[in-house]
Amino acid sequence: MKRSGACPCQSWSVFIWTDQAPEALHPRRCDCDHCQAHPSEVLSGPDMRAEIHTDTGDLTIHTNGDGLASFYHCATCEALLAVGRVFDGQLRGAVNALLLEHRETLGEAIPIQPRLLSAEEKLARWAGLWGTLAVTRPRPPGG
Ligand SMILES: [Zn+2]
Ligand SMILES: [Zn+2]
Repeated sequence: MKRSGACPCQSWSVFIWTDQAPEALHPRRCDCDHCQAHPSEVLSGPDMRAEIHTDTGDLTIHTNGDGLASFYHCATCEALLAVGRVFDGQLRGAVNALLLEHRETLGEAIPIQPRLLSAEEKLARWAGLWGTLAVTRPRPPGG
């Protein structure tokens, strides 16, 4: 299955490829204050391939409190596109399911509380949950 989507300003496209049925995919919704104020649902699976792509857009990258993961935002509309981290030389991560077309055909979102996890617990969790993530654009990061 392939799904695509875009951020609200259309600068960035989001793609996922997975063997899972849509209803078996459950995005995760963080319950922290920041995420309540900036709603997003992250979606990933160990077999999922995700890509965010732009031709003309730019990226703003934030790190969370403990600096473990990078949050990729559209520089124009500030929507969260994906969250990721390099594991063993490979960028892996999750995409914002709210940007995908036909979000309603995916499984229900599951509330998560990552703030309750230690750094080690988070890394172990992501290593098991995140598929590969590619960020593709004409210009190199920062260039
Ligand atoms: Zn945008
Ligand atoms: Zn949060």
